[in-house]
Amino acid sequence: MSLIVQKYGGSSVADAQSIRRVAARIIETKKAGHDVVVTVSAMGDTTDDLIDLANQVSGTPDSREMDMLLTTGERISMSLLAMAIRGLGFDARSFTGSQAGMKTDAQHGRARIVDVTPTRIRQALDEGAIAIVAGFQGFNHDSRDITTLGRGGSDTTAVALAAVMGAEVCEIYTDVDGVFSADPRVVKKARKLDRVSYEEMLELASAGAKVINVRAVEFARRHGVSLHIRSSFTQESGTWISEASEGETVEESIVAGVTGDTSEAKITVVGVPDIPGKAAGIFTIVATAGANIDLIVQNVSVHDTGQTDISFTLPKEDGPKAMEALEAAKADSGFESLIYDDHIGRLSVVGAGMRTNAGVSAQLFTALSGAGINIEMISTSEIRISVIMREEILSDAVLAVHTAFGLDGDTDATVHAGTGR
Ligand code: ASP
Ligand code: MG
Repeated sequence: MSLIVQKYGGSSVADAQSIRRVAARIIETKKAGHDVVVTVSAMGDTTDDLIDLANQVSGTPDSREMDMLLTTGERISMSLLAMAIRGLGFDARSFTGSQAGMKTDAQHGRARIVDVTPTRIRQALDEGAIAIVAGFQGFNHDSRDITTLGRGGSDTTAVALAAVMGAEVCEIYTDVDGVFSADPRVVKKARKLDRVSYEEMLELASAGAKVINVRAVEFARRHGVSLHIRSSFTQESGTWISEASEGETVEESIVAGVTGDTSEAKITVVGVPDIPGKAAGIFTIVATAGANIDLIVQNVSVHDTGQTDISFTLPKEDGPKAMEALEAAKADSGFESLIYDDHIGRLSVVGAGMRTNAGVSAQLFTALSGAGINIEMISTSEIRISVIMREEILSDAVLAVHTAFGLDGDTDATVHAGTGR
């Protein structure tokens, strides 16, 4: 019997009615003759609400206790879903991350999976039951503590189970019809993509497409798990993610998608002495503070000042600690001042076709200038170009670029729920 792993995001199990709807859908898969393992996220905004609560009782919530708290969200949805399935006359059993054998390292809040031993899941399937596994959680063998995999980690749980159990496909159910050429909440004429490569999906997800977690895509690529991202609100086929075959350009367009992201801030280090070792010093400070850097821009010192400015972007939540660490090192490092800017937007265009097509950057910059948009920073990878601009013009820019690359579809995209998870 073939095994299908299904993951339902928070918006698909937001209330009792949705849980019953999802239960019926899972049963259909079971009735079609498959073994079914389901991973669920916490209902609706539960995780955010729990984080708010934690911040109300403590300014610096302890990371072990935070994991204890957040894992309750998935325990609620998994047990309710199992009850709903049983209510419809089918056998279902829910399992926490540790019961499902999801072993992780000990890093609370961002644990990595080190091994999966799904003995109890296999046993449940062998007995004809549907297995429901709490997403986003695991346990560390040495500390014997519960861990979480980081926000959006349920996707990774699903992919890990699919990989270890040899599933035919890992279906990621969400509230949109699949992966789109742009966020359908911003671009009404965004088109659903039938197929994207792992590589493109990785770039799209890192560039702000919220439909699937980056780490889950990495995991799937490494283990060759085929992913199918689709809506839990329709029966339509969604977007398949797999290895691109040689020379193939997905969707036959150079650019697969355009994303907008407002989750980053920009730090400018002003007046850095233009001598060897200064950049190394600055980025060592930032790395030691635990901040993740994305784009970097450094100018040559044009005038005879012997000084240069270095700007870089990083996730907003890493901003304060990076600023603090740099401020503390100011005298030693010899720079003049720091500027913090958390009103930036990052637009990215992604497509495997860029590798073999010249002129994509020219086309992008022309589209942006046509829309009167000022570019502040630029960075490129083999299949992606990102530009930084003011946050408030980002949506307009995404719309303009989507049209300029001929990505607009004929009809409006449907958004079924509203959070994109
Ligand atoms: N409930 C967790 C979160 O909101 C995990 C997930 O949804 O994948 O981040
Ligand atoms: Mg969630």
